[in-house]
Amino acid sequence: MSAADGDGVERSPSPRADVCIVGTGVAGALVGHRLAEAGRSVVFLEAGEWFDPASRIERMEFAIRPDTPDTRVWDMGGKRDRYSTSGTLDYPLNNARVKGVGGTTLHWQGNTPRFHEVDFELASEHGLGVDWPISYADLSPYYTTAEAELGVAGSAGDEGPPREADYPLPAFPKRYSDGLLVEACERLGISTRDAPQARNSEPYDGRSPCIGFSTCLPVCPSGAKYSADVTVRKAEAAGARVIDRARVVGLEHDDDGAIVAARYVTPDGVEHRQEARHFVLAAGAVETPRLLLLSASDAYPDGLANSSGTVGRYLMEHPVVGTVGRTDGPLDPEPIGFLTTTSEAFYGYERGPGSFVLEFRSDPPSVLDSALGGDAIGDVRQPAVWGDDLVAGDFTNREVSVNAQVEMLPRAENRVTLDHSRTDDLGNPVPDVSLSLSDHEYEAFEFAFEVQADILSEMGATPVRRTDPDTPAWAHHLMGTARMGTDPDESVVDASLRTHDHPNLSVVGASVFPTGAAANPVLTISALALRAAEDIDAGL
Ligand SMILES: Cc1cc2nc3c(=O)[nH]c(=O)nc-3n(C[C@H](O)[C@H](O)[C@H](O)COP(=O)(O)OP(=O)(O)OC[C@H]3O[C@@H](n4cnc5c(N)ncnc54)[C@H](O)[C@@H]3O)c2cc1C
Repeated sequence: MSAADGDGVERSPSPRADVCIVGTGVAGALVGHRLAEAGRSVVFLEAGEWFDPASRIERMEFAIRPDTPDTRVWDMGGKRDRYSTSGTLDYPLNNARVKGVGGTTLHWQGNTPRFHEVDFELASEHGLGVDWPISYADLSPYYTTAEAELGVAGSAGDEGPPREADYPLPAFPKRYSDGLLVEACERLGISTRDAPQARNSEPYDGRSPCIGFSTCLPVCPSGAKYSADVTVRKAEAAGARVIDRARVVGLEHDDDGAIVAARYVTPDGVEHRQEARHFVLAAGAVETPRLLLLSASDAYPDGLANSSGTVGRYLMEHPVVGTVGRTDGPLDPEPIGFLTTTSEAFYGYERGPGSFVLEFRSDPPSVLDSALGGDAIGDVRQPAVWGDDLVAGDFTNREVSVNAQVEMLPRAENRVTLDHSRTDDLGNPVPDVSLSLSDHEYEAFEFAFEVQADILSEMGATPVRRTDPDTPAWAHHLMGTARMGTDPDESVVDASLRTHDHPNLSVVGASVFPTGAAANPVLTISALALRAAEDIDAGL
């Protein structure tokens, strides 16, 4: 069935709803679930489809074939998902998102650290970026609820910001090689922690514990890894309606600037209007600004919510650089597919020029990857090795890597715009992603390489390869394109995530982050979404 086919599913609009939510990723799902539980009528409009959970085994089998592109597993790409990229670095957008019920969490890795206190006050503390209009203390209770919703496994270690409750699930045991790295870090005075994971270490929320398929990214066949379709199902059970394969192409406003309807197109090509009292944009950090820009009208020629001119600007990501070490002895690596240990010792600016999180990775590269010149560890390329050299190299048993996920500062020129020279299958301009790095990030890369080499050497491994800093990998954490702030001239949404220009339009997701931190975004996306849901409910 192609995206243009009708499939007999009823997708006409509901009567005017309390809330219409665009997007069913973790941000939209949590808002919709909360509001449906509060008795509000909720309609989700989702561009992608419901993926049958039973299809996950097949998707996994497909994913582990060597020549499967990342985008194929969850049907990304094609005319619907066209984009362009214009920064100094190419950005592989379709690897960084999934369009379907559950959104990008269908594909994600599941790391769920909290942001640190300093992330909310980077300008005040270090003269970098901007401060958030809320503090860590404002978000802390919502972090606790988010950890319970997602089912986070972890242990309160000596790193990370203060917590008021234990993690809902115990941390996963460390792998053998992580133990070696941790001992090396201890000798160097570098603190480490068990990586918090939204992945069941024991049965939780009706889902199984992790049973070790090791294909978490891009697909967890057992359902042990949290994905937001879980929350969407709960929202449905509480009365919400989900209209899948419903692409929103514009928002309509009245003469007072209130949003009155979302226009969406169904697979049969028919355009509909969903009316609601309140609208929530939860379409991810690229499609959210795109939709605001696409909704330009005579009254708002630069797009909705854009009186500040900042819609689409301050795009951030997490570039990743890594070093591979070779050991003399065997590491007996376990291919578990996720992290067990990280270090936040270089989070903040006390020890170096840039903030980063160290990730210890030891999933063994497959023999095929080694032979073809690739490497399953951190995407560090190596020369192709064949035949006797391949066997003698024992790559699957003697290589370990330390990666650094680096904070990127917000800069206005990094942005999402509309590319009017290319259109998608509905004739709308595609998003253009323009992303470049600055000296700040490059200095952090160099420092991270030094730290990585020190740790590997201390554990008895010889550093043999490192990533090219000019083409860093991306963590696929898009952030910052509808930033939060108190000043309507500088930001798109206020501290409650309502747009300054249209009080009945909220934005949730990493779009609203004023700064991107060095930690993964989903737990902060979730905490903010839960907080915004309370504000929306109170205002209805
Ligand atoms: C490979 C990979 C690994 C990752 N690992 C981690 C990790 O370990 N930890 C972490 O914190 N983060 C991770 N991330 C990032 C994380 O998954 C995302 O930041 C997060 O899921 C975004 O959530 P969201 O709800 O804001 O947006 P999304 O999940 O992208 O959801 C947006 C939804 O909106 C829908 N939509 C878009 N446009 C429209 C439209 N016009 N009309 C209707 N619907 C629309 C989309 O179809 C989609 O379902 C990873 C991402 C990738 C790709």
